[in-house]
Amino acid sequence: MNKSTSMSIPIANVRGIEIRVHLTFALVLLWAAFDWGISQGLGFAGAVYGLLFVSLLFVCVTLHELGHSLFAIRYGARVRDITLYPIGGVAHLEGDLSHPKHEFWMALAGPAVNIVLVVILGTIAIPLMGWRALDGMGVLWSRLQGLGPERLLMDLLATNLGLALFNLLPAFPLDGGRVLRAALATRMGELKATQIAVQIGQGLAMLVGLAGFFTGALNLILIAAFIFLSAAQEWRGTQLKAALRRLPASAALIKGGVILSPYDTLARAINAALLTGQSDFAVFNQGYLVGVLTRQDIAAGFQRYGPNIEVGRLTHTHLPTAHPGDSLWDIHHKLEKSGSPAVSVVENGRFLGLATVESVRRALQFAVA
Ligand SMILES: [Zn+2]
Repeated sequence: MNKSTSMSIPIANVRGIEIRVHLTFALVLLWAAFDWGISQGLGFAGAVYGLLFVSLLFVCVTLHELGHSLFAIRYGARVRDITLYPIGGVAHLEGDLSHPKHEFWMALAGPAVNIVLVVILGTIAIPLMGWRALDGMGVLWSRLQGLGPERLLMDLLATNLGLALFNLLPAFPLDGGRVLRAALATRMGELKATQIAVQIGQGLAMLVGLAGFFTGALNLILIAAFIFLSAAQEWRGTQLKAALRRLPASAALIKGGVILSPYDTLARAINAALLTGQSDFAVFNQGYLVGVLTRQDIAAGFQRYGPNIEVGRLTHTHLPTAHPGDSLWDIHHKLEKSGSPAVSVVENGRFLGLATVESVRRALQFAVA
């Protein structure tokens, strides 16, 4: 369980996708009740309206993320969960979605959901309210200041329109920026396309930030900072991914080193680790690879069982195998998918060495530095 799931609670499950709410979300509900009830002077009814509106708004945000998720699943990724934070929803995806065509449709699917919601809400609002529905779009907004289903309908309609337009801004990593990156990537490759999308995204973020600065709108400054920093983070991630794709498994191969037997004591492993600085050990029995013993296994095993336990009882077995010609990107995926700390690199049935989470990380540092 990672930090983000331990701070959130599951509230629903849609086709195997868990919908979770982060605990800080309670602040949004408090704010909504306070803003409509007290700041806008609408009392108890206002507070209830605020809670209802914000809850429905986040249903729309969830549907937006489900739009992304269903396309991601269609393209072979796994959606671990959708978590709702005060600033919006995040779909946690596992798998490779870097194919430009896949990214294009997946990014578009979120805002498309909001457009569909605008059409549905509009189809309800116009027959129900006639010309007054158009008032709600801001022409004579003040006429709709009372609370009630009409106001709720119009608030949701306007917010969904806003969500669609905002997310379609070509400010990477917003959805519109991802669409732009995907379109560029078909012509110039992912790395160059990301670089351009990041530059445009950060340029737009600076404009939004300046607008916020001169108008005193703090939320614009926060949004600008969020876009700017996320773009930088995505750029770093894309660079790392490009390096992983470029490097062969052999760059992270641990050859030689001390080899342990499953019948060795943990004390022997500790000695070897201290003497050689080696952090991960291949464990062999009668010429066959059994698995790997990592530095963490050694530390945890020592704390729990002391120095006399046999190495075999702490060894990770059933390691995935890889070919020396595989890229580090393949290795990274095998490690992630299996949850194993190492893969065994094998050529024509011959064991060449291990590649571990740690050795991949070091090879990468060396390549990107
Ligand atoms: Zn989106």
